[in-house]
Amino acid sequence: MTVPFAPVTIAALRAEEAFVHGFSPRHIEWENGQSRDLDFGRNAGREAWRGDLVAYLGALGIAGDSVFGVHQVHGDRVHVVSRPSFSLPGKGPVQADAIVTHLADFPIAVLTADCIPVVLYDPHRHVTGVVHAGRLGTALHIVSRAVAALKENYGSRPEDLIAGLGPGICGACYEVDEVSIDPFRHGFSGWENWTVPQADGKFLLDLLAANREDLTGAGVPLAQIHQTSFCTSCHNDGFFSYRKEGARGRMMTLAMLTPR
Ligand SMILES: [Zn+2]
Repeated sequence: MTVPFAPVTIAALRAEEAFVHGFSPRHIEWENGQSRDLDFGRNAGREAWRGDLVAYLGALGIAGDSVFGVHQVHGDRVHVVSRPSFSLPGKGPVQADAIVTHLADFPIAVLTADCIPVVLYDPHRHVTGVVHAGRLGTALHIVSRAVAALKENYGSRPEDLIAGLGPGICGACYEVDEVSIDPFRHGFSGWENWTVPQADGKFLLDLLAANREDLTGAGVPLAQIHQTSFCTSCHNDGFFSYRKEGARGRMMTLAMLTPR
C-alpha cells in the first residue's frame, strides 16, 4: 500500500461542500517536493508543533495556525463548543474525548496513534464532531455519546449523520488481555464478531468494528459509516503506532465546517 504524503480523507465526507476534514499522515510533502515529519505529539517541541500545524492546515486548504483541542483522557465526556476559543489538542483546560460544534471556520481536532479517530458530520443541521476512540473510550461508547450530543444540542438525527473512521490499529494487530475484553462483553451485543480468542488467553480486538457497532446502535446507517484502508501498525511507515514504537508521535484528525 502506498504511504500517503498528504492528509488522508474519506470520499463521502470530501463530497460535502461546506465541510473540511483530514487525518494527518506521519510525513507530509513539504516545499521542494521534500517530505517532513508531521508530529503533533508531546515529543514535538513547541515551535516544531506550530510549523507542523500550519503545514497540515495549509494542506487542507485552511489558512491560519489555530485549532481547538482538548486534554484527552480516555473517558466518555463530549465537549460542546458554542463559542470560539483555541486550545492545543492534548493540552488545554477541558478534559474530554470528543468535541462537537456548530461553529463555522473553527477547526476541531483530536490526536491519536493507534486509537480510532472518528469524524462526524450532519449535512442537514450543518454540525460536526471529532472523537478519540481508544480501547477505554470505545468501551465507554464515546462515539455514540458524541452522536447523542449532536442530537441533544443541535437536533441532529442519527440517520442523517456521515461517519468517517480514520487510520487506527486493525483487528489483526491489536492483542489485549482478557480483562480488557470484559467491558465489551458486557456493553456490546456483537462483541464476539470482532474479538478473536488467542491460545494464550489473550484476545485480538477490532476497535474499528466495535465503533461501527456503537454507531449503528446509535442509529447511524451502516452505509453512512466509512473508514480509511490504513492500519497504523500495518502501515507504520505512513502513520505513528503507539503499540509498535511507543510514544514516537501523534497524528491529528481535524474537522471544520465552512459557512453556507
Ligand atoms: Zn494492522
